[in-house]
Amino acid sequence: SEEQAKRKQLYNQIQETKGTSCNIRVFCRCRPLSREESSNGCATVVDFDAAKDGDLGVLTGGSNKRTFKFDRVYTPKDGQVDVFADASPLVVSVLDGYNVCIFAYGQTGTGKTFTMEGPEHNRGVNYRTLEQLFSVARERSDAFTYNLSVSVLEVYNEQIRDLLATSPASKKLEIKQTSEGSHHVPGIVEAKVDNINDVWSVLQAGSNARAVGSNNVNEHSSRSHCILCIMVKTKNLMNGECTKSKLWLVDLAGSERLAKTDAQGERLKEAQNINKSLSALGDVIYALATKSSHIPYRNSKLTHLLQDSLGGDSKTLMFVQISPSEHDLSETLSSLNFATRVRGVELGHARKQI
Ligand code: ADP
Repeated sequence: SEEQAKRKQLYNQIQETKGTSCNIRVFCRCRPLSREESSNGCATVVDFDAAKDGDLGVLTGGSNKRTFKFDRVYTPKDGQVDVFADASPLVVSVLDGYNVCIFAYGQTGTGKTFTMEGPEHNRGVNYRTLEQLFSVARERSDAFTYNLSVSVLEVYNEQIRDLLATSPASKKLEIKQTSEGSHHVPGIVEAKVDNINDVWSVLQAGSNARAVGSNNVNEHSSRSHCILCIMVKTKNLMNGECTKSKLWLVDLAGSERLAKTDAQGERLKEAQNINKSLSALGDVIYALATKSSHIPYRNSKLTHLLQDSLGGDSKTLMFVQISPSEHDLSETLSSLNFATRVRGVELGHARKQI
């Protein structure tokens, strides 16, 4: 019948996309100068002349310019819709059975939360992703049934916290391996979501919980990794086969280095843990990009948690977020170097330690 033919065509399309494209992408997004920076006459050090080709120029002083190459470069004029248009095929592939990770990396104040969460009137990747998943699931409902659930977690000081748990402090969460070898966190809340309205209340609950127990919410969120995990159970209506896949959306802790003299006690420990987990993440993606035989997942809670979704035929997207301001130049260069390294394309050149 016509319906069956349509179904078959869809199954074939999904099959064809498997294993074809590169699985690690890096998109660079630059925020606008803030009102304060503009009124102070702050200079811009980035140039977007070749942004369409994925080239980002950075004026590093004098007449020197360095060019960085990415899969996409977004100027301050590009909006949430432009960014999501490029991320959309990747997020939809979770409905085809892929595991997917999306990270926002960068110095505090460069727009990580803007890109992932976004303001209510101009929402970011997280919300748009769920909206898109529900819409594609509906389109495909003759061929598949999908069940979606979400968890909201935070990794702070190498500890996992369940932001949907009703008594968050009472449970110590650990990563366990199942007999089939997959990783999970026993006891974590997985909230079933049937439509976009369910999602909104879950995300709200998560961000409210984030504020609990911290004196300064902004500071706390810049030092923790905030993770939204979308779990998808798929049933193929043609053959009755069931599969599971996961999509992780991660707003990483700020990548800025603390001046050595600033950090003491608890702050120093936080800074060391952030450093450790961000460099562990960089090492894992780099090892994957360069097809290394050893992937060092166990060096941080974050990479250990995401282990099943980093590597194999999973897909990874990193947004490297930067500031255009001359005052942030050294952090900007450090973020761009980090992102260049994780793409693994500087092979053949001397490998720089960053
Ligand atoms: P981070 O999460 O990296 O600390 P934020 O997302 O909080 O940074 O962004 C810092 C500020 O810059 C916020 O006021 C945010 O609204 C603004 N901002 C960031 N990126 C953009 C953008 N692309 N367009 C407009 N405003 C932005």
